[in-house]
Order: sequence, then C-alpha cells, then structure tokens
Amino acid sequence: MTSMYKGVVEQMVAIKELLEADYQDKKLFAQAFSKVTIPDRIIKKTLTIKLDNGRKKSFLAFRSQHNSARGPYKGGIRFHPQVSEDEVKALSILMSLKTAVAGIPYGGSKGGIQVDPAVLSKNELQRLSKAYAKAFSSYIGPWLDVPAPDVNTDDQTMAWMLDAYEKTVGHLSPAAFTGKPVILGGSLGRTEATGMGGVYVLEQYAKNRKLVPGKTKLAVQGFGNVGFWFTRLAISRGFKVVAVSDSTGAVYNPKGLKIEDLSDLKKQKKTLSNEELLQLPVDILVPAALENVINIENAGKIKAKTVLEMANGPTSAEAIEILEQKKIDLLPDILCNSGGVTVSYFEWAQNLQGYYWTKDEVFKRLKEIIINAYKDIEIVKIAKKISYKKAASVVALKKILDAMILRGD
Ligand code: NAD
Repeated sequence: MTSMYKGVVEQMVAIKELLEADYQDKKLFAQAFSKVTIPDRIIKKTLTIKLDNGRKKSFLAFRSQHNSARGPYKGGIRFHPQVSEDEVKALSILMSLKTAVAGIPYGGSKGGIQVDPAVLSKNELQRLSKAYAKAFSSYIGPWLDVPAPDVNTDDQTMAWMLDAYEKTVGHLSPAAFTGKPVILGGSLGRTEATGMGGVYVLEQYAKNRKLVPGKTKLAVQGFGNVGFWFTRLAISRGFKVVAVSDSTGAVYNPKGLKIEDLSDLKKQKKTLSNEELLQLPVDILVPAALENVINIENAGKIKAKTVLEMANGPTSAEAIEILEQKKIDLLPDILCNSGGVTVSYFEWAQNLQGYYWTKDEVFKRLKEIIINAYKDIEIVKIAKKISYKKAASVVALKKILDAMILRGD
C-alpha cells in the first residue's frame, strides 16, 4: 500500500527550494524544515468497549499531533476501517497547512478509530466515543489539542466525547471540542461553513478572472455536507451548476440546475456516471466527495478550465502535474475547504469568551479570513510564478517555519 504520509512529505520537499530562498540563515531553515516533516507526537491506544450482546471488543485508536508552533493542535477524529497511523500522520500535516493558510491560531492534528461504524449500534458508538475521549484526555484541551468531527463522526459524537472528557478532567471545558451541537456551545453557521468558504473562493476567483457567474458552468461531484451546501450557495449566488452527483451517479442539465432540482437527489434519474461528470466541458470542476478522484488515469481527459478542490486531496500527485501542464488552474483544498476549520476556530473563540455571535457575524468574519488567505496565495503565485496549489503550501509552510524559528524550536 502506498504511504499517504510519504506523499505529503514529498509535496513539502518539492517546494523546499522555493521556501529556502526566503531565509538568510540556511542552517536554521534546514533544521526547522526537517522537523516540520515529522509529527511532534503520535499516540496509539487500544479501546475496549462492551457490545450490546455483553461481549467485549477492542479497537485501535490514534491521534497524531503534528505541529503547535502557531497554536494548539487542531484536527478531526474519524471512524473508518482504513484509519491507520500513516493516514493520521499525513492528515495532521494537512491540518497544520490548512490552519496556517487561513491564518487562524492553530497547529494541526488528526485522530481516528479503526472501526466500521455502520456495524455498531448507537449505544455502542456512544461507548466507543466516550472511551476515546477518556483514553486521550491528557492530550486534549483548549490550549493543547482541539478535536472536531471528521469522516463518520458528527455533532452527536462531539457531545459524547465532550461529556466524557469533562468528567475525566473534572470541570466543564466546552472549548476542548468543536463541531458541537449549538445547545452545547456549537457555533451558528458551522453546518454550511465549508461550502460557504468554497463559494467565497469561487466568487473571488470569478472576480479576478472576470467570469460572469450566470455564464460560468460548474460540475460538482459529491452531495454530502460539503457538496450540498456548496452547490446550493453557488446557485443562489447566480452560478450555473450543470451537474451534481452522489455515489450512484450524476444529474445533468446543460442549461443549469435549480435549487428545487436538488431536493431528494437520491431519487432522481442519473444520466451520467461520476467519471463522466469529471470529464464534462465545464468552466469549473468541483470534486467534493473523495480523495484521489482525479488521478493519472483521467487527469488528461479533464476538460474544465479550473478545478476547485472541496474534498481533501481529490487530486493525486501525478494528476496535479498533468493539470499544471494543461494550464488548468487548481484551487487547493487547504484554501477552498478551510471554511470548516475557520468556523471551528470561531466556536472555540466563542466558548473561551462565553459570548456568542450571530450567524451574520460568523459569515462576515469567515469571508474576511477566506478572502485574505486567497489574496496571500495569489501574491506568492504571481511573485514566484507557481501554481495556486504550490503557492498555498509555500504560504502555509512559511508561517509555520517562521513561528518555529522565532521560538528557537
Ligand atoms: P459526506 O460523507 O457528507 O458526503 C460525501 C458525498 O460523497 C456523498 O454525497 C456521497 O454520496 C458522495 N460519494 C461517495 N462515494 C462517491 C463516489 N464514489 N463518487 C462520487 N461521490 C461519492 O462528506 P462531506 O463532509 O461532504 O465531505 C466531503 C469531502 O470534503 C471529504 O473529502 C472531507 O474530508 C472534506 N471536508 C469536509 C469538511 C466538512 O466540514 N464536512 C471540511 C473540510 C473538508
């Protein structure tokens, strides 16, 4: 099996020279760079819970804390059979890059449990979530490491984990987890935040490229939390979404879909496969489902002029090179889907203040952060004559390395 962690480190090494040029003290740079390719700490535990049938079952659980030079570690917890040490290490690095691109005061981490949640009952999931929070409690906290939902976990998971964590540490601590239900201190706007952030990127890009929304055709792969909100908000802002898909296939209307067409996508007739959706002659292709869907097999067949990555890692390393050769703009995941972690940051800030914001305030601040991040990337892209993808990594790594060097770390 290929190592995701190795792939992420290779991408960092690919921009090492570009970064090095900005540092006078090459020795300090080299020290910090070699450190940033390795997570600070990887914690592994075996969680044993009682099943509903009275038997006991054990699960492997992980947390990778990559870097905290810019602030507490921050990252989701996923429940999936393929969770591994390699995967959490890679994803924790991507979280450090994402929080740095957004300019929010966090580092990066990621956790997970190797489990197929579909085979557990709700009570078993509750016991497993609480077991995780208890076992990892000494590594979690508002000024240490702040988990959030990820694949197959949600606000209910965070509510269970928060409760177990607070009982273990002996006091209330809502800022220790984000993505909580609003009634337990969650932020307004968190549900649609990732899609909204992506639409702010889309609008800024359209403005820069002088694209008229009504004449800009989009195809969106994936109709979960991210794909649904992105599509809905893009249409409501005048963009022409011609195709949307879930795992069963895509609905397609070259004249543009309406918001009403999106209700109950599951029941609608799918006229295209997911592969055909990726190859549509649209202006902007939006992968919002899975990793590596644009890969060495199909990258050469992409007809879109721009790819806006809403999923994490939807374009493989080889495909990135192919798209670059084809002069297709690739707007990077660490910018486009950073709306989620940014509103998680707002949730943490509200919890620490004990003072809550309106949804309008949340979106106003989100927009400001996303647009500033976009502009920082654009400046580096132009100055160094590199792609958006590379420029985003340069912006992010520079902030992390600067923080490490200032600390003398
Ligand atoms: P989700 O589970 O809610 O939705 C996933 C969607 O992908 C579903 O519509 C599913 O039908 C579709 N899908 C599954 N298999 C598919 C296939 N083979 N082809 C096409 N579509 C398929 O997940 P989500 O929360 O919307 O996350 C989507 C992506 O965005 C993931 O990569 C995730 O890591 C990333 N992301 C999510 C958030 C967030 O706030 N939810 C934040 C940052 C990044």
